[in-house]
Amino acid sequence: MKNLSSKEVVKDILNKSGFKFSKSLGQNFLIDDSVLDSIVYGAELCDEDYVLEIGPGFGTLTQKLCKNAKKVVAVEIDKTAIPILEENLKEFDNVKIINDDVLKLDLQKLCDEEFEGKSFKVVANLPYYITTPIVMALLENSLNISMLVVMVQKEVALRFSAKPNKKDYGAITLSVDYYCDTEMVCDVPPHCFMPPPKVTSSVIKFIVRDEKKVSPKDEKLFFNVIKAAFGMRRKTLLNALSNSGSINLSKDEINSTLEECSIDPRRRGETLDIFEFCTLSDKIFEKISKK
Ligand code: SAM
Repeated sequence: MKNLSSKEVVKDILNKSGFKFSKSLGQNFLIDDSVLDSIVYGAELCDEDYVLEIGPGFGTLTQKLCKNAKKVVAVEIDKTAIPILEENLKEFDNVKIINDDVLKLDLQKLCDEEFEGKSFKVVANLPYYITTPIVMALLENSLNISMLVVMVQKEVALRFSAKPNKKDYGAITLSVDYYCDTEMVCDVPPHCFMPPPKVTSSVIKFIVRDEKKVSPKDEKLFFNVIKAAFGMRRKTLLNALSNSGSINLSKDEINSTLEECSIDPRRRGETLDIFEFCTLSDKIFEKISKK
C-alpha cells in the first residue's frame, strides 16, 4: 500500500497522473501521519463503525478509515481524483467511492442504503470553502449521525465551539450547540498539507446528542431570534431585536418581554446562552400567538 502521507509519493502521483490541485475545490491534502492518526483516534473507530468521508482526495485518510471501520463511503467531487483514489484503495473491499458533490446528494437515502439504516460517523478533512454549509447540512437534516470529526480552519473551529461573551461566539455557535457537544482534537499547522494553506487548521469533534439541548416551542422563531440578536452585534438586544424586522412585536413589547424573561434589555446577544435564547423565543412566541 502506498504511503500517501509521504511528500515524495504524492509528488510521484502528481507527475504520473498529471493531476493538478484545485484551489477552488479546497484541495489541501494531508501529508502528516500523526495528524491522520489523531483524526482516526479522535473518531474512536471500531470495526462495527460506518463512516462517511467527504472529500477523500487521493485516499490518504480513507486508507486509515478502511483499516479501522466496518465500511467507508467516500464522496469526492473531483472526477480527476477518482482513478487515483480507486488505485490507492484497491486492496480494500469495505469502501464505496462516489463521484459527486456532497451538497447535492440525498445523504439520507445514501446512508440508509449503504449503512443498513444504522448510525454512522462523519470523518473528513473538509474543503474549507464549504465547511459551514456541510456541517450545518449534516446536523440539520436529522441524519443518523453519532459523531463528526473534521478538519476545518482554526478560526471556524473556534466559532463552532465558542462560549458566551467570547468574540467568536455567534449564531453558528448556538446552531451547533443545539445539536451537539464539541471538543477540540488538535491544531494543525500549514506544513502538514500539500499544498500548504495560508491558515492554521484544527480538528474538531462534534458529539451529536440524542436530545437537542433545548426544546423551543417554535424552532424557526428560536433561530430567527438568534439571527436577529447577532445581526447587529454591537447593539443592545432591545435595539437588535426591534430593528431586525423579523420579530412581529413593537419595541415596547420586546422590552417588556425581555424583562419578563429577567434579561436586561441593555445586554448584547453575545452574552446570552442557549437556555436564555430558548426562554426568550418561547416568551416571544406566546406574545405573538396572542395577537
Ligand atoms: N481527504 C484528503 C486529504 O485529507 O488529504 C483531501 C482533503 S481536501 C482538504 C478536500 C477534498 O474535498 C478535495 O479532495 C476536494 O476535491 C473535495 N471536495 C471539494 N468540494 C467537494 C464537494 N462539494 N463534495 C465532495 N467533495 C468535495
